[in-house]
Amino acid sequence: MKILRINTRTKSFKFEELGELAGLGGRALTSRVVNKEVPANCHPLSAENKLIFAAGVLAPTNAANSGRISVGAKSPLTGGIKESNSGGQFAHTLPKLDLLAVILEDKPEAGSPMQEIFISADKVVFKDSTVTGMRNYAAQEKLLAAYGDKAVTALVGPAGEQCLCASTIQFSDPEGLPSRSAGRGGLGAVMGSKGVKAIILDGDANAKTVYGNEELFKEARKEWVDVLRNHPVTSQGLPGFGTAVLVNVINEAGALPTKNFRMGKFDGAEKISGETLAANIEKRGGKVKHGCHTGCVIQCSQVYHGADGKYLTTGFEYETIWGFGANLLIDNLDDIAAMDRTCDEVGVDTIEMANTMAMAMEGGTLAWGDSKGVLAELNKVGTSDPLGRIYGNGTSYTAKAFGVDRIPVVKNQALPAYDPRAVKGVGVTYATTPMGADHTAGYGVCQNVLKVGGDVDGHKKEGNIEISKNLQIATAAVDSLGLCLFVAFAILDDARGVPCMAKLISGLTGKEMSVDEMIGIGVNCLKDELDFNKRAGFTDEDDQLPRFFREELLAPHNVGWGYSTEELQAAKV
Ligand code: SF4
Repeated sequence: MKILRINTRTKSFKFEELGELAGLGGRALTSRVVNKEVPANCHPLSAENKLIFAAGVLAPTNAANSGRISVGAKSPLTGGIKESNSGGQFAHTLPKLDLLAVILEDKPEAGSPMQEIFISADKVVFKDSTVTGMRNYAAQEKLLAAYGDKAVTALVGPAGEQCLCASTIQFSDPEGLPSRSAGRGGLGAVMGSKGVKAIILDGDANAKTVYGNEELFKEARKEWVDVLRNHPVTSQGLPGFGTAVLVNVINEAGALPTKNFRMGKFDGAEKISGETLAANIEKRGGKVKHGCHTGCVIQCSQVYHGADGKYLTTGFEYETIWGFGANLLIDNLDDIAAMDRTCDEVGVDTIEMANTMAMAMEGGTLAWGDSKGVLAELNKVGTSDPLGRIYGNGTSYTAKAFGVDRIPVVKNQALPAYDPRAVKGVGVTYATTPMGADHTAGYGVCQNVLKVGGDVDGHKKEGNIEISKNLQIATAAVDSLGLCLFVAFAILDDARGVPCMAKLISGLTGKEMSVDEMIGIGVNCLKDELDFNKRAGFTDEDDQLPRFFREELLAPHNVGWGYSTEELQAAKV
């Protein structure tokens, strides 16, 4: 397979051999390229930054849940290295074009028209975009009409075109909807800065995968499905209720951040729970189980219809429901679904925007619980309204605009849906991952709440630095293989899981991959990321939660934080 480098200023391109990148994939590849090729002190929206789309090591195969895409760059939101991970069809389509990665470089002259870039097996075609300024669903419909229903896309919405720091890159799902987001870190702004509205992959591409040891791969693939289908979380909880199954679970644990992280319990949790979501789908139509890419056997996603029975959104995640729900004191699930759709349309990250709306509420311009008000404000993003520009730059930026000092960010990225005082395993990850506050970088919720892969008390400090460090390493490896993070539930509890992942790689390449070597991919990936951030100016002081978490106890369990910045360094490789 090859790497495709595209110069967005000269509109030239070249197909390269993998060279020193051979053996890497997904996040390990994006982070290596960023660390080696992007000046750490560059402006993230400058020509010096690069935007890398990389399929995982296992993407050329039909191994279950191996179709996640990694997008990497220097983040305009955090100022550090970023890997943003998404579902959709992009990762499985790249190898069909004999590509492992696409790298966008340089940037066009100011005022140049936004481009559509069509990639087929042997050519790259630039075209002035016909969907500039359009929201994502309408833009996608027009792109599919032009390039064919099987075309697979990555596109930015109006927020990305405006280079706003909370912008996403949206990827098309198996139904061709632009519903899957590389949400975190504002990488849509990097794509917008390079003048690219959409990348379209030829849906007819069909390069065959060459296996080094196909028999071994087939054997491992079968075992892999068995591992995923035999764990209660991956076979029942997630497919039954989606990630929203966590609303009641995390609320019961007293860890559901409520009213901008003031409490750990929300009175309206039941109304926005996974159970309510599933009941609505049952009544109105839609799908309780849905895969964000072909080959997913867990199917945590769903298709959600509004009260009128018409399609409203998909990929309606726990984090979104928490952010626009409990954290803003909103208990209307349909309004939250409309907010999710609005974010997908405009192309902004739901976690960042939910925290941004909390800043508007802290600042007194929106009332707590005002769901219609939130929808109206979200609809300003990506328009010519200056307030929309402020919101679209995220939580910290909006807090400044409204004079707010209770700002839940680490490395300038907003915190997700688990209060770090009550789920310390994930709190340590928020504080120390090179990504900025990110639950997916080391999901300590497993051991702290779900009791998967062990039982470590999330209220106490003991053991949580260790679990965060181990999870950060394992996650970096999982992201590099292109596997969905949710496979972690199964592999943490099933002794066959990790060796089976190594066996899948051995079967694909024909070279034996040991478990230690596979873990080494994760360690080296984190080393690349930490090295970049250090050179970008981050210090140990940046590995800490905001002061209010350190000073306030969280009800109902009255738990504090308690980690010093020095202690937290032990969570880094
Ligand atoms: S489990 Fe969910 S996030 Fe993972 S691949 Fe399947 S649908 Fe996507």
